[in-house]
Amino acid sequence: MSDLKCDVCGASPAYVCCSSLGAMSLAYCRECLHYGCEPYGISVGFFAIMGGSMEAFTDEFRWTLWATVLRAGKTAAEFWSDVESEREAFARKR
Ligand SMILES: [Zn+2]
Repeated sequence: MSDLKCDVCGASPAYVCCSSLGAMSLAYCRECLHYGCEPYGISVGFFAIMGGSMEAFTDEFRWTLWATVLRAGKTAAEFWSDVESEREAFARKR
């Protein structure tokens, strides 16, 4: 059995699959894969770079985001605050 750990929650075993966030492969446990969770930090970075609002995304992608936020034990307000902090960090680097 593989000792690969889930990139979302750290559980094992995990399986390498294509991420719904873009052209990359990550490790997911069965539960995170079932609910469509993505790693929280990568999701924050994704929204910080992409910008816009939730209305610009499909219902399926919105589900992915909220599953990710809940899995991370965060609230929507915490998520958007983290996105804003990341945007400010990106802006300082330019
Ligand atoms: Zn997991």
